[in-house]
Amino acid sequence: MRRYLVISALIFALVSVAGVCANYTITVWPYGAIVWVQTPSADAHSITDYATKAVKNVFSFWDEPVPIPAKNWARPEKVSFPTAMARFNALLDAGSRHYAVVTSVNTSVSSLYPPLTWNTNVIYPLFLYFYPTAEAMDYDFADYSFWGSYGRRYSYTPRRIDTTLPSTPTPKEIFIAHNTDWHYIIDHELTHWVTDLICTHAGSKFEALPLVITEGMAGYTAHSLTGDENGWKQIAAVWAQSDGKLDDVPPPLDYDVGTSVVAYLVQQEGKQKFLDSLPKFAADWPKEAVAITPGWRAWLHEVKVADGDRTLYEARLESLSLCAWLLDPVLPQEARTVIDHIYTGHGTMANITQFWKIISVVPPQPSDDVLTRMFHREDTFVIVANRDHTHQALAAQVKNNLGKYWQDWDNYYTWFVIGLRKVIAACGNPT
Ligand SMILES: [Zn+2]
Repeated sequence: MRRYLVISALIFALVSVAGVCANYTITVWPYGAIVWVQTPSADAHSITDYATKAVKNVFSFWDEPVPIPAKNWARPEKVSFPTAMARFNALLDAGSRHYAVVTSVNTSVSSLYPPLTWNTNVIYPLFLYFYPTAEAMDYDFADYSFWGSYGRRYSYTPRRIDTTLPSTPTPKEIFIAHNTDWHYIIDHELTHWVTDLICTHAGSKFEALPLVITEGMAGYTAHSLTGDENGWKQIAAVWAQSDGKLDDVPPPLDYDVGTSVVAYLVQQEGKQKFLDSLPKFAADWPKEAVAITPGWRAWLHEVKVADGDRTLYEARLESLSLCAWLLDPVLPQEARTVIDHIYTGHGTMANITQFWKIISVVPPQPSDDVLTRMFHREDTFVIVANRDHTHQALAAQVKNNLGKYWQDWDNYYTWFVIGLRKVIAACGNPT
């Protein structure tokens, strides 16, 4: 599978060189590169600085050695190849040696980013793509359901990144958008890198781990390092106290319930023993989950849950923040206020009903620009439904009707909200 990934990435690298304007700037980084998509951020320096320290913090948090940069990391070797076939062969060779080969758009010159050393293993460098806004990032992926991601380029066939990002064969990539939570998101995504490395070198597979564990580790690490609590314990307690199980956690609760599971296991048996259990979790999570559940429930039994926590739990379950983001181009201020209220832990159940009531009213016909931003979001219904393997027929129907009514705002909006209610709120955001 890994070999296949590398080869398909190289073919991709070869194909996507032709005829497109570069729209990014690359900063060489000890662990690979930071790619500023569109334009470098005004705080590029502090982001680079933070990301560099975050690698050390996140690996050290798990008592793992920090990857060691190659001696020549600051000056990636530039090479050019006389023919496409020569380049293909060279890229294949470089890929098998864990180099990242970046071919700049419109030239035949490639840069070779050297591998890192981790735990005596040779590993791929990491590429961190930083977008100026979530809107720009989600547009590139034609998927408006995420704010940060590890390795997403290879998880499905995105529509637009082929022409906007540099082609690189390394499967180790992080995508982040500039928003108020970027520190937290960097820590979160870097934890996926550590987890992936630990799993791979233990002969297991990162992708085989349940989301409760991967998102739980990332949440536990990022919450611990940033001190941002975000209510995970209370949300997990609502699920545990209502006899929730660990092998069928609803996808929107994976993050909070996962954080609680990892916090519980680390407290019980320590970090090393927890990490040693990863291959076991990847091999048969349903079995392991049954064994963990009673102790985990008892651990959360005494947690006091206030009305605001219960409301936040319900909001998470219905993916209200994702619904609000999908509707962002036309979302009324009143709905934003309700969302803020709920997500800062001050909401009541009536606020959930209130949110749906506000957005059920068709807003005035928007401008063409705003409407275009709505059109860009349409694929998300299908993508989210496919991830969960439920509601696929309904998502297809929503997408179809959005296409049909693109010039009829009342009908268009009505179908958009049906999509939010019946697809997004029903099967959530499992990313
Ligand atoms: Zn994650």
